Amino acid sequence: MARPAARRIRVQVTGIVQGVGFRPFVFNLSGRLGLSGWVRNDAQGLVAEVEGEAEAVAAFLAEVTERPPPLAVVEAARVEELAPTGEVGFRILGSEAGERRVPVSPDVATCADCLREVLDPTDRRFRYPFTNCTNCGPRYTIVRDVPYDRANTTMAAFRMCPACQREYDDPTDRRFHAQPNACPACGPRLRLVDAEDAPLATSDPIATAAGLLAAGAIVAVKGLGGYHLACDAANEEAVRRLRLRKHREERPFALMAPTLEAVRALCEVSPEEEALLLSRRRPIVLLRRRQGAAVAPSVAPRYDTLGIMLPYTPLHHLLLAEVGRPLVMTSGNRSDEPIAHEDADALGRLAGIAEAFLLHDREIHIRCDDSVTRVVAGGESPIRRSRGYAPEPLPLPVAAPRPLVAVGAQLKNTVALVKGDRCVVSHHIGDLDNLETLRSFEQAIRHLGGLFDVAPEAVAHDLHPDYLSTAWAEGSGLVRVGVQHHHAHVAACLAEHGRAGPVLGVAFDGLGYGTDGTLWGGEFLVADLTSFRRAAHLLPVPMPGGEQAIRQPWRMAAVWLRASFGERLGDAALDLPARVGERRWRACLRLAETGLNAPLTSSMGRLFDAVAALAGLRCEVTYEAQAAIELEMAADPEEGGAYPFAVAGGPGETLVVDPTPCVRAAVADLLQGFGAATVSARFHRGVASMVVEVLERLRGATGLATAALSGGVFQNRLLVETVVPELREAGFEVLLHRRVPPNDGGVCLGQAAVAAAVLAGG
Ligand code: ZN
Ligand code: ZN
Ligand code: FE
Repeated sequence: MARPAARRIRVQVTGIVQGVGFRPFVFNLSGRLGLSGWVRNDAQGLVAEVEGEAEAVAAFLAEVTERPPPLAVVEAARVEELAPTGEVGFRILGSEAGERRVPVSPDVATCADCLREVLDPTDRRFRYPFTNCTNCGPRYTIVRDVPYDRANTTMAAFRMCPACQREYDDPTDRRFHAQPNACPACGPRLRLVDAEDAPLATSDPIATAAGLLAAGAIVAVKGLGGYHLACDAANEEAVRRLRLRKHREERPFALMAPTLEAVRALCEVSPEEEALLLSRRRPIVLLRRRQGAAVAPSVAPRYDTLGIMLPYTPLHHLLLAEVGRPLVMTSGNRSDEPIAHEDADALGRLAGIAEAFLLHDREIHIRCDDSVTRVVAGGESPIRRSRGYAPEPLPLPVAAPRPLVAVGAQLKNTVALVKGDRCVVSHHIGDLDNLETLRSFEQAIRHLGGLFDVAPEAVAHDLHPDYLSTAWAEGSGLVRVGVQHHHAHVAACLAEHGRAGPVLGVAFDGLGYGTDGTLWGGEFLVADLTSFRRAAHLLPVPMPGGEQAIRQPWRMAAVWLRASFGERLGDAALDLPARVGERRWRACLRLAETGLNAPLTSSMGRLFDAVAALAGLRCEVTYEAQAAIELEMAADPEEGGAYPFAVAGGPGETLVVDPTPCVRAAVADLLQGFGAATVSARFHRGVASMVVEVLERLRGATGLATAALSGGVFQNRLLVETVVPELREAGFEVLLHRRVPPNDGGVCLGQAAVAAAVLAGG
C-alpha cells in the first residue's frame, strides 16, 4: 500500500511560462522527485498540482522558482495547500481555453543542443537551417495570434512528419510542444534565386551563396525578422557597391562574425561584452575596434567601433561557417525605409541592390530589426531594442487602471501597450516619416494588442503637434494623455528602475516639443511620474533653417559664435565661415536674427553639433547625431581640461545654463592651434562638470539626491563615463538606462509610465 502523501499543493506560475518548455520541465522534475500530480497551461500562465513527501514538494517549489527552463521568466508562483488525494503518476493535461493573456516570448538564438545536431553528419537535422526546439528558435516574428500554437504561427503551412510529431507529443523530448518544430522532411526550405527570381542551379544553396559572397557578390539573406544584405566585410569593392546601391553614405554597417574568436580578431571584447554577444538575444554589440582590424574601410568610415553580432539562426551559423569570415549584415532596405520582410516586397525593393537572394518559405509575420547595444559604465546600454528583446514585458512602477497604448516619438519610434503594471514595448518601428513606416506602426499596435489582449481605452502621446504618432492619437477616439517629451525620457528611466520619483531628471537630446512651444533638449527636470517642473535648461538660441540646422551643424556653430562673441565675431579668425561660404554664413545669421524659420531651442544635441563643426569635424551630416558621434570619437582620452559654463538664476528660480564661456574657450584653443582631440575632451568634461554643478544646486533647493540621465545625448559613452563617477563622488545616486534606449526608442515606455500614474491618480 502506498504511503500516505505528506503534502499536496497547487501552484500557479505567472510570467513567461508558455512555449518555453515549462510543462516538460515540471513533468521531468516531478518524476525525479517522486511526486505525483499534473500540470497544464491556463489563462494566467501555468498551473500544477503536486503531491508527495513534504521535502520533495519544497524542493519542487525551489526548482520552479529558482531554476526554471532557460527561456522562462517566473514572475510569481502562488502556492495553495490542498488535501492529499493519493493520486498516482504525473500527467501533462491539455491547455484550458482562454490562454490569451500569456506573453509571447522574443525570438531566441539557436541553442547549443540544436547547433550540435545541425553540425552532426549522423543527425537527421544535419545542415538543416530551420532547426529549433523549446529552448530556441523563432517566436515573436512568426506568431500571428494567440494562443501560441502552431496553427497560429507562420509554421501552420507545414505539416509535421511522423518523426517531428513524435518529438512534439513526447513530454520528455526537448521538442515537446515546440511550435516551430521542423526537419528537412517536413519543414521550410531554402532557395537561391537571382534578382529576376530565377532559381540558381545548386543542390546546396548555402554553399553556393557562400561562394558568391566570397567572390564579392551582394546577397540578400532572409533571416528571422527580415532580410539582410550581406557581403564580404573585408572586400572594399563589395562594401562600396553596397553603400552606393543602398544610398547609405556614411552610417556604419553591422557585421556578423562566424565565431567569438573572429570577433576578437577585429575588436576588443570585455567579459560584459562577451556575455551580450553570446546571450540568447544575440544583439549587435558596439565594440572598440583593434588597430588594423581586417575590415574594408567603407564598413564604418572614421569609426573607432564596430557593431558585430554572432549567428543566431542555424542558417546564419551554416552560412558564416561556410564563408569562414565576417560578413557585412545590414538591414535589407534602402536608406530610411523599413526593413523588408515579405518575399515579393524584398525582391522588388532589393533587386537593384542584391545580385542573389537566399530565400525560404517560412513567412515572417512581424518584421523585427536586429537589436543594437553596448556596454557603458559597467552595464548594458541599449541603442535599439528589437529582435530578441521585444515583446518581453517590462514592469511599470504604477499600474494602469485601464488598458492603454503609448505611441512614442517621431524618430526611432516604438510603441507600448499596457495592461495593469505590464508594459510591452514593441520592436523598433523606425522614423515615422513615410507611409510605409506609419503602416508598420499601426500594425504593431494591432498585433501587440491582439497578442497581449490589450484593447486600449487611453492613449499616451507626445505634445509635438507635427508628430504622426500625435496625429494618430488625436484621431484614435481614445482618452488622451499628452506627455511632454523630456518628461517621458526621465519617466522611462524611472520606470526601468521601478521608481516613481521624485528625482532630478537630466534629459539631453536632439529636440523635443516643450510646454512653451519652443524646442527643448537641454533640460533639468524635477520630476516624478505624474508631473515635472523645468528646473534648469540650456540657454535657448535660434535654430536657423529649422530642420536644415540638423543636417548642417555649421548653422548651430554660427549661432553659438554670434551668441558668444556678438558682432565683433571671433569667427573671422576661424576658417569655418570661409569653408561653408561667407554668403551662406551671413544668410544663416540673418535668419537667426529675424527669427523667421528659426525656432528657439535649448537643445544639448545641437550644442554638440555646434562644437563638432567648430572643431572642424563636420559641417554637414548624413544621419542623425553623426556630428556628435564623431566629436565623441575625436576626444583625447589623456586630456584633463574642462570648458566652463555659466549657470544663472537664484534660489527658487529656473536656472539657465549659458554655454558661451565654453564656446569662447573652445575658439581660443582652436586659434592657439589645438585640434579636435583637445577641444572635444575639454568640451565633454565641461558638460559633465556643468551637470554636476547644476544638480548640486538643485539638490540644495529640493533635497533630492537621485539623478536620472536620459535622452539621446546619454548614448555618448564618454560623457556618461565622465559624469557618472563625478556624480557618485558628489553623493548622488545615478539612474541610467539599462533596458530601453536613452534615445527616442525609449520614449513610449516613459509615456506609458506617466499615463498609468496620471490615470491611477484620478
Ligand atoms: Zn534548440
Ligand atoms: Zn519533420
Ligand atoms: Fe528625445
